[in-house]
Amino acid sequence: MERTTVLITGCSSGIGLGLAARLAADAARRFKGKGVSAARGSASPRWSHQGQAEPGVGWGGCSTAALSHALSPVYATMRDLAKGERLLERLGGCCPDTLELLQLDVTDPCSLAAAAQRVQGQQLDVLVCNAGVGLMGPLETCSEQAMKTLFDVNVFGAVRTIQAFLPAMKSRRAGRIIVSSSIGGLQGLPFNAVYCASKFAVEGLCESLAIVLHPFNIHLTLVECGPVHTSFLANLQRPDPEGSEMRGLDAETQGLYRRYLGHCQSTFRDTAQEVEEVLPLFLEAIGSPCPPLRCASTQLLAPLRRLRLSSPDGSAYVRAMHDFVFGGTESGGDQP
Ligand code: NAP
Repeated sequence: MERTTVLITGCSSGIGLGLAARLAADAARRFKGKGVSAARGSASPRWSHQGQAEPGVGWGGCSTAALSHALSPVYATMRDLAKGERLLERLGGCCPDTLELLQLDVTDPCSLAAAAQRVQGQQLDVLVCNAGVGLMGPLETCSEQAMKTLFDVNVFGAVRTIQAFLPAMKSRRAGRIIVSSSIGGLQGLPFNAVYCASKFAVEGLCESLAIVLHPFNIHLTLVECGPVHTSFLANLQRPDPEGSEMRGLDAETQGLYRRYLGHCQSTFRDTAQEVEEVLPLFLEAIGSPCPPLRCASTQLLAPLRRLRLSSPDGSAYVRAMHDFVFGGTESGGDQP
């Protein structure tokens, strides 16, 4: 049976960690590998016996019978290998023989080159560009440095990563590229202007690239998640509504921002998915013979997305989204 080699960026936490753990556990269950190793750093494995997947049920609950390829190895990459311990702990006793931790900072071309060099010789079947950061707040409070950093990770990081691995996929005329986008890549969200701009850019990048990659038999899939319980919200940069960054900002915007933070908190509390719930989308994109260009993990805001598409001048969407967030409505699922 052929083996499928996967490389994932941003595996220190959240979706990347969950996906790496799931794939490595799946691979370990079925294949004997070469032992856990960590390149360019530490991360010593721990062994116990928990968390084995049910026999016959693999990725995200999908039946493994449908998969023509086996997995080996999974390259779980992260910018700081010291954080690899969490992934190894998660794997527990799943015998992650086929897992390899690699240092990879998507903003650092040298780090990318080293990772590509490490993978060279292995045919890389699936590249998952998952690393991402967030930035929230009134646009006036977003520093140039914060905006540049966000674009460097979310947009140029994805571009660099794809550039590093695409030539080998093209020459083999086979491969899959999966990119962590967001529902914020499909519709503007208040006080997330820069983050949405970065994910809109990722959407345009991938849609354009998919057209060229079609004859090369390289499938590109954008996974568009809504709120997911990860470190994302805690890690994202956002100004304290009472903090010094807000000084000088008009009172009306300050009020809207406070209301937005309340809305955001309740949306996360009421609708955020667990990582395990979004993994099936990634697993389908890896295993399906004909994966889609885009797939969304949630119907949250879907009616507003439809309104956006059906009313191309955009004004109906702007009004409806404003009313939804600031008009006191609690649930977006059944909005216009
Ligand atoms: P997370 O737990 O914060 O994970 C983000 C990952 O990206 C971390 O491993 C982080 O590593 C990594 N990263 C950041 N900068 C990097 C860099 N320069 N090079 C390499 N890795 C870097 O959040 P998550 O929710 O799993 O996010 C994964 C993806 O899902 C992101 O692209 C995000 O935009 C997208 N997404 C998330 C949500 C959500 O609600 N959680 C919703 C829609 C889309 P460090 O630990 O070193 O910082």
